Amino acid sequence: TNNNKKPHAAILTSPGMGHLIPAVELGKTLLTKHAFDVTIFLITTDPAIARSQINQQTSHLKTPPNVVELPQPDVSSKLGPQPSIVDRIVVTMTESIPSLRSFILSMNHPPSLLIIDLFGTAAIPMARDLGMQSYVFLTMSAWFSALTIYLPAMDPIHVENTHIKNREPLPIPGCEPLLFDDTLESLLDPHGPMYEGYTNVAKVINGSDGILMNTWQDLEPSATKALGESGILRRFTKGPVYPVGPLVRTLVERDTAGLELDNKVKQWLDRQPTESVIYVSFGSGGTMSAAQIRELAWGLELSMLRFVWVVRPPLDDDVSGAFFDVGKGGDGLPEYLPEGFLERTKELGVVVPMWAPQVEILGHPATGGFVTHCGWNSVVEAIFGEVAMVAWPLYSEQTMNAAMLSEDIGVAVRANKAEDGVVGRDEIARVVRRVMVEEEGGEMREKVKKLKASAEKAVCEFGSSYESLGQFRRNCCELHLRRGEDAKA
Ligand code: UDP
Repeated sequence: TNNNKKPHAAILTSPGMGHLIPAVELGKTLLTKHAFDVTIFLITTDPAIARSQINQQTSHLKTPPNVVELPQPDVSSKLGPQPSIVDRIVVTMTESIPSLRSFILSMNHPPSLLIIDLFGTAAIPMARDLGMQSYVFLTMSAWFSALTIYLPAMDPIHVENTHIKNREPLPIPGCEPLLFDDTLESLLDPHGPMYEGYTNVAKVINGSDGILMNTWQDLEPSATKALGESGILRRFTKGPVYPVGPLVRTLVERDTAGLELDNKVKQWLDRQPTESVIYVSFGSGGTMSAAQIRELAWGLELSMLRFVWVVRPPLDDDVSGAFFDVGKGGDGLPEYLPEGFLERTKELGVVVPMWAPQVEILGHPATGGFVTHCGWNSVVEAIFGEVAMVAWPLYSEQTMNAAMLSEDIGVAVRANKAEDGVVGRDEIARVVRRVMVEEEGGEMREKVKKLKASAEKAVCEFGSSYESLGQFRRNCCELHLRRGEDAKA
């Protein structure tokens, strides 16, 4: 019967390394631990880099997941003059649906379920039309997932009067409220297009057959409980919400894949004392103004601590300017750093242009701290790397992650911006030293080590996330049978 047949999951990835990397991890887990067949449908603006990223993550597997690269649609005519990143991603996704559809129709063993990310909601009607189940993989915290799921039930007028105008905390049932200082850009104008767009996406997510989240119970007990089967938020989604994380690249696998940390960084790290180095990186897209780069350079120098810093050319009005150039190595030493900086710090630090092997750096015993933009993948990787964090959010839900890490879990200190929006050099030196030198940094690392242990437990056999994926599989099979019966009737 159908029950014995493996469910075949199609995973649709949207452009962006922060989306691709966890999607591939999900594919690997479904394939190797939960007896799914997996096809990854790749939508990317840079196929070569995306391919090489997937290779790094899967080449050690005996049977890697099937990868299908969808043709890049021409989106230029569909976008205005200066489209936002979100618009570019969403339009690229929407325009790719026809080729996804025809590819699936041409397959001998077509997938029975589709898993999309936050930007793939346009594919859900197609999935329904083809008789596929649809699921959403949220590569973010349960707290942000809870806000997203609850959003369509909120009254925009009330949000405007309380949260925006009066700066009152925004309540999220069963979860910590969202303080105004940490709020999202898309909530600022409850009558504007961003708010509406986000609400519409949330409605589609809530109407899917289920939601997978890259987090685990012990990291976020209240939010996962609120979203669980008997939780207060359960009535807002059609299907169950499954905490299945952390799905994250690990060092063990990469060793067996024979991949080595870039020699220069590794050799340098090998010579540094344990937990003495702070790693500074702002994710795949993060960029900074020239003034901010200057302050950061001076701040690191003033701290007199060891560092590895991933630098990108300055952009004065775009905090995510590298989003579509991700994964590109840079050559040459950046001329936008303060004069003499590289010379003066050559014993103390390493500057890596554009892109660094983050998991290896965080996992290296010499690394003890992380100045991070708090992208969710970076947060989870930091936990695996057993480092204390300086939380420096740049855009989207990173502010919420920063709040959770510093105020709630207590594994980060925040870098505070001055009036002009720039984090000054003294502040940078101060927070970096708090994390690396002060006693509280050591306490944070102890907490992180406990979180790591809980993460490892969650994904092991009988762990909460492992069991959750098992339940997901059973539900998929049951739904498949039931819909098959319905179709016959
Ligand atoms: N990353 C990396 N090297 C870099 C910058 C980023 O390997 O120089 C990886 C990082 O390890 C993480 C992903 O890219 O897995 C970024 O995802 P995250 O959610 O942290 O942030 P986003 O890029 O989505 O803002």
